[in-house]
Amino acid sequence: MNYKEYIRVIPDFPQPGIRFKDITTLTNNGAVYAAAINEIKQAVQNKQIDLIAGPEARGFIIGAPLAVSMGAGFVPIRKSGKLPGEVVEASYDLEYGKDKLTIHKDAIKPGQKVLIADDLLATGGTIATTINLIEQLGGEVVGAAFLIELGYLDGRSKLGNIDIFSLVTY
Ligand code: 5GP
Repeated sequence: MNYKEYIRVIPDFPQPGIRFKDITTLTNNGAVYAAAINEIKQAVQNKQIDLIAGPEARGFIIGAPLAVSMGAGFVPIRKSGKLPGEVVEASYDLEYGKDKLTIHKDAIKPGQKVLIADDLLATGGTIATTINLIEQLGGEVVGAAFLIELGYLDGRSKLGNIDIFSLVTY
């Protein structure tokens, strides 16, 4: 399947000069969405996984169906102030200033094996922060899976030596 045919590229979103990869034109097609999730599953199913963690919001679109199809639980990673229970948090740099991601304190038990899923790997900042949160809880990150990787931004170099799979690379 040539998934790139289904990914719409929108110039100058959210800022001038950015060519945004819009996955809604892929997930809008049931057969293509299912094929993409299934192909990611094939790539990671050799790993023993207890949980899949995905950052909001598009990480849910990839992570949740992947978790259900693999019989794993799903752990949402959210911006500050969104999760109702006790959380741990980690800050990350944005272009201007800082933001925080959070995870429920009891979402992962020490030693549980966690796969990270998101729609797109760019600079790696989001996933480096997600790894930090999982490790604060004693979880073991066994890999990360993406629909899209922007290879030219070299996000991989921020993620240590975890196993990374991406379906499509630009
Ligand atoms: P990073 O932290 O790796 O620089 O950025 C990745 C995060 O930003 C992902 O959670 C992703 O959803 C979002 N993101 C950045 N650029 C794009 C893009 O072109 N398309 C989509 N769909 N998401 C993007």
